[in-house]
Amino acid sequence: MNSVYVLEAGKVDNFDWIGFENGLQKIFDFRIKKIGPVDVPDFAFNPEKKQYDAEKILLDMQKIEFEDLEKILIVTDKDLYALEYNYIFGQGDCPGRQSIVSTFRLHDKDKKLFANRVLKESIHELGHNFGLSHCPDKKCPMHFSNNILDTDLKEAKLCEKCGNLLAMID
Ligand SMILES: [Zn+2]
Ligand SMILES: [Zn+2]
Repeated sequence: MNSVYVLEAGKVDNFDWIGFENGLQKIFDFRIKKIGPVDVPDFAFNPEKKQYDAEKILLDMQKIEFEDLEKILIVTDKDLYALEYNYIFGQGDCPGRQSIVSTFRLHDKDKKLFANRVLKESIHELGHNFGLSHCPDKKCPMHFSNNILDTDLKEAKLCEKCGNLLAMID
């Protein structure tokens, strides 16, 4: 069975990785393997924005290869931007091999809320990797998040339509 690799880039503190892996496992029918932490590449840092270019981090991770690698999800504590967006929660090729999620803007005093946000955004980006596009259902993790309120409205469970699509793909 192939694996979905979860690569910690930077240092994500106060985070329940085991709970996170279990949450992903409920959605994606693959082994989940946590690796890292590794350093975020310096060349991805934009000193004017004081943020990291998500594209560049993804590019750097292309060199990662494992025999059983199905997808690789990067989880980073760094603030990310991409093209026309001032910031992004994450990004994932649709379909594709790699995705990235930033925990930077998902923090909350409530650790469970924080963990749940990271899980939902990760399901979203990995969903893109598996070919799922944005979903009109506001409760579905594949719904587009304009802000954290949108993320909090979502559930850590795909809607029926997206769930069926994923089952056909993987
Ligand atoms: Zn999306
Ligand atoms: Zn959906």
